[in-house]
Amino acid sequence: MDQIAEKLKQIVGPGAWEDDEHALELNLTEGRGAIRGKARIMVSPANREQVADVVRACGETGVGIVPQGGNTGLCAGAVPDASGEQVILSLSRLNKIRKIDPLDFSIVAEAGCVLADMQAAARDADRFFPLSHGGEGSCQIGGNLSTNAGGINVLRYGTTRDLVLGVEVVLADGTIWDGIKTLRKDTAGYDLKQLFIGSEGSLGIITAVAMKLYPAPGEARTALVALNDAVDAVSLLSVCRAQLGDDVQAFELISSRAFEYVLRHIPDTQSPFPENFPWYVLVETANSARETSLEDTLGSAAGEGLIVNAVIAKNASESAKLWRIRHSISEAEKLEGAGAKHDIAVPIGKIQEFLLEGENRLRERVPDVRPVIFGHVGDGNLHYNMSLPHDVSKTAQEQMRQLASKIVYDLVTEMGGSISAEHGIGVLKKAYLKKYKSDVELGLMRSLKATLDPGNILNPGKVL
Ligand SMILES: Cc1cc2nc3c(=O)[nH]c(=O)nc-3n(C[C@H](O)[C@H](O)[C@H](O)COP(=O)(O)OP(=O)(O)OC[C@H]3O[C@@H](n4cnc5c(N)ncnc54)[C@H](O)[C@@H]3O)c2cc1C
Repeated sequence: MDQIAEKLKQIVGPGAWEDDEHALELNLTEGRGAIRGKARIMVSPANREQVADVVRACGETGVGIVPQGGNTGLCAGAVPDASGEQVILSLSRLNKIRKIDPLDFSIVAEAGCVLADMQAAARDADRFFPLSHGGEGSCQIGGNLSTNAGGINVLRYGTTRDLVLGVEVVLADGTIWDGIKTLRKDTAGYDLKQLFIGSEGSLGIITAVAMKLYPAPGEARTALVALNDAVDAVSLLSVCRAQLGDDVQAFELISSRAFEYVLRHIPDTQSPFPENFPWYVLVETANSARETSLEDTLGSAAGEGLIVNAVIAKNASESAKLWRIRHSISEAEKLEGAGAKHDIAVPIGKIQEFLLEGENRLRERVPDVRPVIFGHVGDGNLHYNMSLPHDVSKTAQEQMRQLASKIVYDLVTEMGGSISAEHGIGVLKKAYLKKYKSDVELGLMRSLKATLDPGNILNPGKVL
């Protein structure tokens, strides 16, 4: 181990490695503190050639490499295991935007670019980069590809996968595959880039990406809408899409408990309504040259009894305050105490049934958990979380967590849904992937892994 560490230090040079456990603290734990690993060393290569050299050196000795972006992932995929023998490969120094081409509506960036910096670069070129979520100030575009991140604009622009035009990847044997192209159409053979999107660093190290840009969407209109019932959210979504089309770019459901946690724990947040409601939807539109406005649509929805109240932000600062409520939910949940998290997807048409049936099953079998539901209802993706009672032992909490997860994932599977809509598998959901994926799917995944990483050095122990 000492030999490999010395070799890696030489590859990346002084100032680009760290092997002190205390200095590495934030790199050894994931955000919620549920998993903590150890690492022999963390190296931060400056370019793709150095990444390739690191991978080759680790491959020669069979040392496991854990690629790490912003470490904002929610499944502990970027955290090393407990052996202390793995190497963290940080992509942070590969942070240049190589090219931005407004005519081509494309951007080429290194994997370590922070998502918010990509958004800003697109804005400076009078273009729009639509990937956006609560982790955007720290997560990196390579991490976003590796988890196929979703976020708030999927409804209109799709997930990360839909935005990728090309990738540059270092393979397990150190070969650099330069797949950076900005083509919109390319059916010459297999679409290899797809293998690396959503594979959580287990099939290759992404060193650069080419992605789509869009026209700047014009002024956004944001509204917070109050509802009596979550089922009305699905009907409202349908009305909004029918009347406003693709102008609807975000449609986020927030349960009263999630709303209440934010107001309780996050400073400077307040409800724009004088009273509480069972459910809220944060809806954002942009663009409109249409005759029908967001006000018209919400007005007619109120007339039909679909919504019970609504505020429309008058300016960017009011809009930011509404978004702050949505973006603070995860933090507020953490401050509330122990919980169970489920990032699930079901077909949009089945959300109503899922919510009703989920509530019934949980009430019957784990009545003490308190559901904290929110999410990207426009994508059929709910963060179907729950708070656990404070006044029971950790063991009892863990038993409730496991039972609740089984109930939720069984139901999701019955409804043709997914146990992970946008956060990935990492370590935390590995056992569930094994339980809920079919043998055929698991077999195909294992053969891909064996072909692309025969020595099992790329993020070993994650996903599969
Ligand atoms: C407050 C908050 C809100 C969030 N909201 C959302 C949301 O709405 N939607 C959503 O999808 N996610 C959300 N996330 C989760 C997280 O931000 C995403 O999963 C993000 O894509 C992770 O990027 P990262 O750079 O932090 O990756 P990391 O956490 O560093 O890594 C994630 C995985 O990708 C691998 N990896 C990282 N970089 C590379 C690379 N260059 N090559 C190969 N493998 C790599 C890692 O090994 C790991 O398996 C949120 C997180 C936070 C903290």
